[in-house]
Amino acid sequence: MRILLLIFMISICSPALAQKISSYKELATKKIEGKDFDIKTRSGPSSSLVMAIHGGTIEPGTTELADAIAADRFSFYSFTGLVDDYQGLHLTSTDFDEPRLAELTQNAKNCLSVHGLKNDAADFCVGGANADKRKAYVKLLAKKFPKWRSCELCCPPNSGTSKNNVVNRCKLAGVQIEMGQGVRSELKQNLAFLKELASVLRDELDKD
Ligand SMILES: [Zn+2]
Repeated sequence: MRILLLIFMISICSPALAQKISSYKELATKKIEGKDFDIKTRSGPSSSLVMAIHGGTIEPGTTELADAIAADRFSFYSFTGLVDDYQGLHLTSTDFDEPRLAELTQNAKNCLSVHGLKNDAADFCVGGANADKRKAYVKLLAKKFPKWRSCELCCPPNSGTSKNNVVNRCKLAGVQIEMGQGVRSELKQNLAFLKELASVLRDELDKD
């Protein structure tokens, strides 16, 4: 009986077995904006948009980089976790239908989405459905930051090539960059690196 009870307790407490959220509407019935998560948006003079939909506690370091890339040039969107609940706050890129981002993507030409990997499968894993831009980013990152491993579509299942991925809902298909743990911890400690990376990514974004 005790064993059965223990199995039952493990099964209800295990986050792996918790139900995955599948829409913003569902997330918003369980979480409170301003307390559990925060959304920040900013319009820029360029038609490009930089987004971090898993910022704060969800994929730490991504909002800070997206914000630095956008600077005062591109529009910016951030969904930031304020509490430690990955499962409850991580709405996948294909399910991400938050209305403020939907409005920004409708008006944006080139879009860049910044994410964090749970591991170091790659330092910069470049995905998204825009093959030309993807290749340009890999080449650029490898040249400017040879210390870090940059590669294309090299962190499955996080390829970001689905047309339903929010980064591909802009006027042109977009690019998503997944960063490993090592890069993100370097970004946190090294402001010069953050600025340099942001500047390199910014210059490439709205090149035609
Ligand atoms: Zn992510």
